[in-house]
Amino acid sequence: MKPPGWADKIHGHTVPAEGPYHVQVLHEPIGVAGQIIPWNFPLLMFAWKVGPALACGNTVVLKTAEQTPLSALFAAKLLHEAGLPPGVLNVISGYGPTAGAALASHMDVDKLVFTGSTDTGKIVLELAAKSNLKPVTLELGGKSPFIVCEDADIHKAVELAHFALFFNQGQCCCAGSRTYVHEKVYDEFLEKAKARAMRRVVGDPFKKGVEQGPQIDSKQFEKIMKYIRSGVESGATLESGGERFGSKGFYIQPTVFSDVQFKELDEVIKRANTTRYGLAAGVFTKNTDIANTLTRALKVGTVWVNCFNVFDAAIPFGGYKMSGQDREKGIYSLNNYLQVKAVVTPLKCLAWI
Ligand code: ADP
Repeated sequence: MKPPGWADKIHGHTVPAEGPYHVQVLHEPIGVAGQIIPWNFPLLMFAWKVGPALACGNTVVLKTAEQTPLSALFAAKLLHEAGLPPGVLNVISGYGPTAGAALASHMDVDKLVFTGSTDTGKIVLELAAKSNLKPVTLELGGKSPFIVCEDADIHKAVELAHFALFFNQGQCCCAGSRTYVHEKVYDEFLEKAKARAMRRVVGDPFKKGVEQGPQIDSKQFEKIMKYIRSGVESGATLESGGERFGSKGFYIQPTVFSDVQFKELDEVIKRANTTRYGLAAGVFTKNTDIANTLTRALKVGTVWVNCFNVFDAAIPFGGYKMSGQDREKGIYSLNNYLQVKAVVTPLKCLAWI
């Protein structure tokens, strides 16, 4: 029986070129793929990176984030037990500016794939350019809009806007952190969204019923508290939360600021696109004309219509603008790990001798 997946389905093609030539296009592994992953979804990021790289026949050197080294080491151990030959998958636990930078600038690493912040993405791109010009795939930050139109099912929109923002303690590159609500349903939405945030159960994530645990570390905790203070200082209306939760650990109250409404589609499109990021967006409407208009106009890599955070290994993921370059997952992820070679052969070479 053939194994499922891409590994045995990657092949080139022939090109009907002008003249008596047989032209083959071969898809070859790039070689050594260097991969740097973040801490917010350590096992998922491992899977998104390692799967396609190995399916395309590359070897891998993967560096985990300093906060989350264990799940990748465990997964790598399982892969070796399953028969992966020694040396094919190598996992490094190390710091970014040392181990990460060494990987990005290594002359024997042929490809770099990075997920993390936009600032660090720029650093690794520069390191790759200054060393051996290795191609770089980047999946970076976002500031995703979540647009609620006047005809939306408000109850569902509130629930999904809440999920879009607070999922994984808000530590999600595509978090729906800018919610735009049509002025006709704004008051109702705000009241419900605020009540939902206040009902969110914060506490020990290993306890049943808890919806939100602590932030990953003190650095992220301080960063979020700073953003909340800056929101308050710049005059935004704080509707709920805004403070540390409890007195121990890096817990933060679910926080909602208000005053983001729109009247016309053109206005919300402009505001949604007025950011250097372009990772994802959510659109809530029952009107297919509006949905089609918004999905075409938004400059983002993923638009979820009447849903959010739907991920599947076959759906491409990545960003426009400063949210990244290239796409991961599905058929698109193969392009990140393959070289293309053209082989040109005269059809009747013997006749020419
Ligand atoms: P965050 O700020 O969200 O922690 P980073 O982009 O700094 O995100 O981290 C994502 C990954 O990039 C981590 O594995 C981290 O170790 C790595 N990293 C951080 N700084 C560098 C660097 N200068 N060079 C290479 N990798 C780095």
